[in-house]
Amino acid sequence: MEHILKKYFGYDTFRPLQKDIINHVNDNKDCLVLMPTGGGKSICYQVPALMREGTAIVVSPLISLMKDQVESLRANGIATAALNSNNDENENIEIRRACISGKLKLLYISPERLLLEIDYLLQDMQISLFAIDEAHCISQWGHDFRPEYTQMGVLHQRFPHIPIVALTATADKITRQDIIRQLHLKDPKLFISSFDRPNLNLTVKRGYQQREKHSELVRFIRNHADESGIIYCMSRSKTESVAKMLEKQGISTAVYHAGLPAQVRDQAQSDFINDRVQVVCATIAFGMGINKSNVRWVVHYNLPKSIESFYQEIGRAGRDGMSADTLLFYSLGDLILLTKFATDSNQQSVNLEKLQRIQQYAEADICRRRILLNYFGEQNEKDCGNCDVCRNPPERFDGTVIIQKALSAIIRTNQQIGSNMLIDILRGSFSADLVEKGYDKLKTFGAGRDIPGRDWQDYVLQMLQLGYIEIAYNENNHLKITESGTHILFGRKTAELVIIKRIEQPYDKKKKKAAPAKPLFVAEMPNEDGDLFEELKALRKQLASHEAIPPYIVFSDKVLHQLAAIQPVTIDQFGEISGVGEIKKNKYGKDFISLIKQFKTGR
Ligand code: ADP
Ligand code: ZN
Repeated sequence: MEHILKKYFGYDTFRPLQKDIINHVNDNKDCLVLMPTGGGKSICYQVPALMREGTAIVVSPLISLMKDQVESLRANGIATAALNSNNDENENIEIRRACISGKLKLLYISPERLLLEIDYLLQDMQISLFAIDEAHCISQWGHDFRPEYTQMGVLHQRFPHIPIVALTATADKITRQDIIRQLHLKDPKLFISSFDRPNLNLTVKRGYQQREKHSELVRFIRNHADESGIIYCMSRSKTESVAKMLEKQGISTAVYHAGLPAQVRDQAQSDFINDRVQVVCATIAFGMGINKSNVRWVVHYNLPKSIESFYQEIGRAGRDGMSADTLLFYSLGDLILLTKFATDSNQQSVNLEKLQRIQQYAEADICRRRILLNYFGEQNEKDCGNCDVCRNPPERFDGTVIIQKALSAIIRTNQQIGSNMLIDILRGSFSADLVEKGYDKLKTFGAGRDIPGRDWQDYVLQMLQLGYIEIAYNENNHLKITESGTHILFGRKTAELVIIKRIEQPYDKKKKKAAPAKPLFVAEMPNEDGDLFEELKALRKQLASHEAIPPYIVFSDKVLHQLAAIQPVTIDQFGEISGVGEIKKNKYGKDFISLIKQFKTGR
């Protein structure tokens, strides 16, 4: 088992659970594997596929996913093909022949195609195992429901003795039960790995107005020069306006949403995967097909609607286990809009509850990772050290007077205003609407002029979080004072607010690339040379475009970082690097070594 792992994938050790899962499959038993995105699910069926007689059938919902897997397996010298509607007839004939003669170790297939072939091709070949990738697609409760997946229950009827391994990153209980029930898994073992992704840095910025958001975004991306990233927006139009803004700043950006024609979307995806554009501005439609391992950051321009979707989306960063940054912008406007969507949906209470949980995450002043892991049912005793709260614990001051000013303005308008009007009154700005309603005559008009509007946004969010005000969603989102708010207003109690710190600490490149605080499987590495890394990256891109495959399939960022640190100069040393299998050692070793040698003598 270890020999195969090293020979084909270049890794020395299995991650937790991988070995148990492989043994389980090799005992011809069914199982359900739950691992976070980037957790290493593929190895769990690919290694048994290599160890067993015959061909493994892998069901996958998207052509792009199949393509990605086939390319990376082939790059490691493993005979693999994909059967889907993208192929032409000749290709299909050849694939069928290879299947029947037992030449393929893995065959990727779409669920529709699988159902068509179940009485034909599948009967004529020797099958080693079935792997159902993205198995949550079977569940109507999930977000990627695919009706064809529900018919896969026939697999076990037709092939009762061939083990099925179902894999997903969606953890909730309903989906799990659905998968087991619908696939008729026999006495299935559940393998659940930790959902912790310690290499993902977590940061939230709250109460930003659009202009500030944009300048923060540009600053963030400049700190990630040449590093791929995704920006998730709530609406299609937002993806386009944000992309336009970034393009103006000279940042190469593609747009991806379900309203675009298929070929525009495919182009965007392929440009991103092949490192031809740096950024994709996307709706949640972008994601499942993205196996790109060198996504170095993910930004949520708007608040997502649940922790599940948030976690899945940030999970697309740092699949290679190297450090990656995530940033979420949290604003009252988003909260109001999402509350409206949830209220209008047909699963109102579930959706409101989910929204509340992501809201708690965004507002947290305790370690954010603990909140996430807790949500997935993992208790964590220690703070992570890799989120903004851990790095910059909130400091408080006596905010009674500030809160009183706001509450007093609310009360003087008979609680008939939303947060923007409130801030206009406090700041003393003569907007037309405000003057028309006579709010410029209020005693509190201009009473908060000394505090910038953006800080008021933050304080209003804090007051909401502390329970001094609430939003009347059914009354034009007006702010209402709660009972505990009245205690502050009338001076019966005092209250603390969190100090707003906006001084941005510039990212320290060198420090950022070091292993995060508590690495699960991030190797400790000696200091590396950043210039060499950039040169290795350029070579990788050149080799990849020569073969028309994405750069990360040639080598992951992690491999390049190791090369930059260890600087091997012989083929054998090169082959020692984790992630360099036999085929890649022989294929790419020479080029990389000669670059490294040149680099060493040139200094
Ligand atoms: P998932 O399908 O769970 O999202 P992948 O199977 O794509 O994750 O694996 C994520 C990354 O981790 C890949 O780059 C993969 O090569 C790497 N990986 C998987 N198993 C190991 C291992 N045992 N040692 C080192 N890297 C691994
Ligand atoms: Zn933390």
